[in-house]
Amino acid sequence: NRQVILKRYVTGCPTVEDMEVVTGTLRLAVPPGSPAVLVKNLYLSCDPYMRTRMTRHAVPSFVPDYVPGKVLDNCGVSKVVLSGHPDFKPGDLLWGVTGWEEYTQLIPNPVFRHMINHREFPLSYYTGVLGVPGLTAYAGLFRVAKAKKGEYVFVSAAAGAVGQIVGQLAKLTGCYVVGSAGSDQKVNLLKTKFGFDDAFNYKKELDLNAALKRCFPRGIDVYFENVGGAMLDAVLHNMRHRGRVAVCGQVSQYNLERPDGVDLFRLVGKHIRMEGFRVAEYAGEYRRFEEEMARYLNEGKVVCVEDVAEGIEAAPAALVGLFAGRNVGKQVVVVARE
Ligand code: NDP
Repeated sequence: NRQVILKRYVTGCPTVEDMEVVTGTLRLAVPPGSPAVLVKNLYLSCDPYMRTRMTRHAVPSFVPDYVPGKVLDNCGVSKVVLSGHPDFKPGDLLWGVTGWEEYTQLIPNPVFRHMINHREFPLSYYTGVLGVPGLTAYAGLFRVAKAKKGEYVFVSAAAGAVGQIVGQLAKLTGCYVVGSAGSDQKVNLLKTKFGFDDAFNYKKELDLNAALKRCFPRGIDVYFENVGGAMLDAVLHNMRHRGRVAVCGQVSQYNLERPDGVDLFRLVGKHIRMEGFRVAEYAGEYRRFEEEMARYLNEGKVVCVEDVAEGIEAAPAALVGLFAGRNVGKQVVVVARE
């Protein structure tokens, strides 16, 4: 059973050497009477928040820290091989939290343990557009930021797993949508494939404030915050009265020892609502979201771009690549095809 373990706690940018691919033993049995299942992992999702779990926290964070010497875990698509659980049988395809390894024995987690209902799409979509990133985009845009027709919406890390869906859902709602990303290739994707009204390469802009003023002469109603730091600072300068900021993530901060300062006092003058959210709080909306998103995909109203790494050995580099922006679209690792 090949497995990806954390070798040591990480400081600064994670590297491939912080992880190791090892061969572990596999017990091809589930304990009698236990609700455990043994799954074969097919697709593993690479997510920036995994970096936050690679540091030892003095005060426990909302997700447990990874432990050196132990297998990493995160969402993936798996096939049931053996089951002691009444709801799952061998051959069932599921998505949810699993190990970064070829096979995992687990007790199904009630929050994210779903059957795959739409076999008309690639299974990998359940690590992206039909999985956590898709639900994150949907919940953040509609439940947290309450984006409405005609509003001006800005999304950062816009060509990534969450951002590409945020932009397309906002367009379907009738918003004016602009995204930022870290390469010309990604900016081009935003404008041509995902239908953003405008986009810019934040690495090429000398002045982020001026870039936002150029794209939003009337200001921003909704900011879908994925990066933090200098971008958040510039966005707050450009928000409209009673704007909303859905704080989904702050990937520019995950490798820093101390966060960059942002002057949040600017929320006060314009009555801006800035709200953090965790996608797990919206797990109850998953089935509704899945059906809506499957309809959009079937109708061609939403498309998605994936960046697929082949084989479990490629998983550490795929994860590290998120922090250099190497992924174009949703980063997924194929461990095995069905
Ligand atoms: P992405 O697919 O967008 O991959 C990460 C991207 O972040 C990179 O491709 C890179 O794109 C960008 N990036 C990396 N480092 C920096 C930096 N220093 N400054 C600016 N951009 C950077 O990831 P996801 O779509 O999976 O995640 C997007 C955000 O959503 C993250 O902050 C994540 O933590 C958060 N999230 C939050 C959830 C919640 O429940 N609240 C659930 C899921 C995700 P580029 O080339 O554009 O720089």
